[in-house]
Amino acid sequence: MDARWPNNARVAVALSWDVDGESALYVRAPERARNQLSELHQRLYGPQVGLYRVLSLLDRWGVPGTFYMPGYTARIHQEGVAAIKAAGHPLGLHGYLHESLDTLTRDQEEEVLRRAQSILGELLGAVPDFYRAPSWELNRWSPEVLVRGGVTSDSSLMDDESPYILETPAGDLVEVPIHWILDDAEHWNHSRANRDKAIADPDTVFRLWAGEFDGYWEHGGAYVLTLHPFISGRPSHLQVVERLIRHIRGYPGVHWTTVPAIAAWARSRPDLPRRTSPSPVPLDHV
Ligand SMILES: [Zn+2]
Repeated sequence: MDARWPNNARVAVALSWDVDGESALYVRAPERARNQLSELHQRLYGPQVGLYRVLSLLDRWGVPGTFYMPGYTARIHQEGVAAIKAAGHPLGLHGYLHESLDTLTRDQEEEVLRRAQSILGELLGAVPDFYRAPSWELNRWSPEVLVRGGVTSDSSLMDDESPYILETPAGDLVEVPIHWILDDAEHWNHSRANRDKAIADPDTVFRLWAGEFDGYWEHGGAYVLTLHPFISGRPSHLQVVERLIRHIRGYPGVHWTTVPAIAAWARSRPDLPRRTSPSPVPLDHV
């Protein structure tokens, strides 16, 4: 048993919500964003409808959420930022226009981070120090850029189920790992552009997520679910999230928390693993 969490809990659970709004489409498919209204409107469901259903669900069950918002989305949906803040949930950095970092130069990446920090700082009254990369894409230099920019934790990498220290040339970053299987977009995101991909059966997704949780409970770790209000705010999908909360509530030794709280707790542990990123080219003499 891995009793490393507060109150000797064996597993930490964080429900995280990426409130992307329309932002990603402007970067991923600017032509479609200019010429087709439908996809933008679908994404608008998040800040317009889904977010409030999510906040209500979290309130009903008394569980904390963790939210991430691109700066652009935060600026044009300020009422959403205010609602998240009023409910007491943390809101973290997620790019400006949901740029995939691997399409940016280092200078552009630094500018995007500054812009996002400035907007969220202004709206929240304090600059958040926790980050999730849009689409979980990081450049080789991104962890260093984040540390130099004052960010203390990231939640975008998949090499563990427990937090660890990622060493960078500028200092340490706490990494709180995630995975595709625990991302609603992989199962349910659907648009004209990926019409060949079927929308997954809600029962199947519940079994995947509950099965993953059962494994985390067995082995210990931080179970971080990555959800989007425009996807999981939909009725049958939100029911799956609620079934999952009920399922997890049936277990003892669960610490319901947030991603920045996981990072803060992890940083206080003297025995946290310290790691560096893999070499960009194969190592010699191995
Ligand atoms: Zn996102």
